[in-house]
Amino acid sequence: MTTVLEVRNPATGELVAALPAATEADVAEAVKKAAKAQEGWSRRPPRQRAAVLLRLAELMERDSETLAWLDCEDAGKPITECRTGDVPGAIESVRWFAEAADKVFGRVAPTGPDHLGVITREPVGVVAAILPWNYPLAMAAWKTGPALAAGNCLLLKPAEATPRSVLHLARLAGEAGLPEGVLTVLPGFGDVAGSALARDPVVGALSFTGSTATGRNILATAALTNFKRVSLEMGGKSPQVLMPDALEFDDLIDNMIEAAFLTSGQNCTAGSRVLVHQDIADEVLARFVTAAGGLAIGDPSTADTRIGPLINGAAVDRVAKAVDDARVAGAQVYAPDLPVGLHPRGSYLPPTVVTDVPAGHPLLTTELFGPVVSVQTFATEEEAIGLANTTDYGLAASVWTRDLDVAWRLARGIHAGVVSVNSYSEGDITTPFGGWKQSGFGGAEKSTTAFDQWTREKTVWIRTR
Ligand code: NAD
Repeated sequence: MTTVLEVRNPATGELVAALPAATEADVAEAVKKAAKAQEGWSRRPPRQRAAVLLRLAELMERDSETLAWLDCEDAGKPITECRTGDVPGAIESVRWFAEAADKVFGRVAPTGPDHLGVITREPVGVVAAILPWNYPLAMAAWKTGPALAAGNCLLLKPAEATPRSVLHLARLAGEAGLPEGVLTVLPGFGDVAGSALARDPVVGALSFTGSTATGRNILATAALTNFKRVSLEMGGKSPQVLMPDALEFDDLIDNMIEAAFLTSGQNCTAGSRVLVHQDIADEVLARFVTAAGGLAIGDPSTADTRIGPLINGAAVDRVAKAVDDARVAGAQVYAPDLPVGLHPRGSYLPPTVVTDVPAGHPLLTTELFGPVVSVQTFATEEEAIGLANTTDYGLAASVWTRDLDVAWRLARGIHAGVVSVNSYSEGDITTPFGGWKQSGFGGAEKSTTAFDQWTREKTVWIRTR
């Protein structure tokens, strides 16, 4: 019996697509096709692989408006974010890794005169990626670019809620001339298609982006099956640390808002914990709450919307409950009323700022994945670092100060994969992106570092006399 994957627009609850969900048999069939295509693809000279991927980037550019609308409708992401962030970022990723395809060098070992030790980098073979719903196309591109450039054949499983931009990417790949079986998209459920990929004995590497709980499950599955190489990009609870001189930056509050509320707060790197020096705390709080209260909430298909819906009603209930629990525990909650006229079946929450949360409360330590930011104060640099490092996560952080010594000490002291100074940023495509602690495992994305996930080294040891 065919199971159906229903895709609903989070802004209206309307059904926008109903697709057959990939079964275990579909996964097995796709793995077979990928295995068949793999040798031919990996033997193509890297520049030829690059040419196909560059053509794919061109086609993505041609269809960029379609791709933006698909993510807006499936994920409820504000259309302006899709147009200016996700889609251009995805195109850049495919293009950058295409251009890097013939720049992945091996090494020659410093042996004695009687031997030559040549270390080559080779594709893993048939590989897979499992995607989250908050950046459907962008995450697909972060994985597709380096996996295919390195000569692998990739099976992509998008999240249940957001398959359509990823399916469109696969169509464009076909149009670009990618041979059949090199890139296959398997829209389906995590516990069926995702789990089948995690268990499959032929899949040699699996790159996952999603929640920490699912990441743990995938890693355990890999250990119990074929020890496939697993890399996990997971959740976060990232701090924004504001030193006493932070208000000297005119764009501080704008940056804080962007960090906290991008994708309506459903962002793995969301700066969901503001840690502010006590000397400026009152002014920062007042300005931050005012700015958050002024954000346009509404239909994500409207160009000026900054806060769209959460992914579904269950997410709204979960996040609202966490805020209520904190309020009962003594927290102060600042949130504007939702505007009148929102679609009654849209899953909206207002941008919310919470202070006076008791230490150790889950609102300060667990990832909420919604438009909720806590504010805590500190008196010393050491205290700021201590607070920043109190969670099990370690994905991103920002520090704000003009004092370079302080900035450097904070950046070194905070346990996170990316620390940005005087901005809130994950860097660009040239810099690696990966989490520490329970935010990441087994390799980073972006930059040439991404090739570590998708290639393996071989030593060829040659006796020369
Ligand atoms: P999720 O873990 O619920 O789902 C992610 C993917 O895993 C989906 O495709 C799902 O179908 C699949 N899945 C579920 N159960 C599975 C199983 N048993 N076996 C194999 N696959 C399975 O996460 P989500 O709700 O889609 O995404 C939100 C999470 O993703 C947040 O925690 C967020 O922080 C994280 N995220 C991290 C990054 C990063 O780069 N670190 C980027 C984006 C999102």
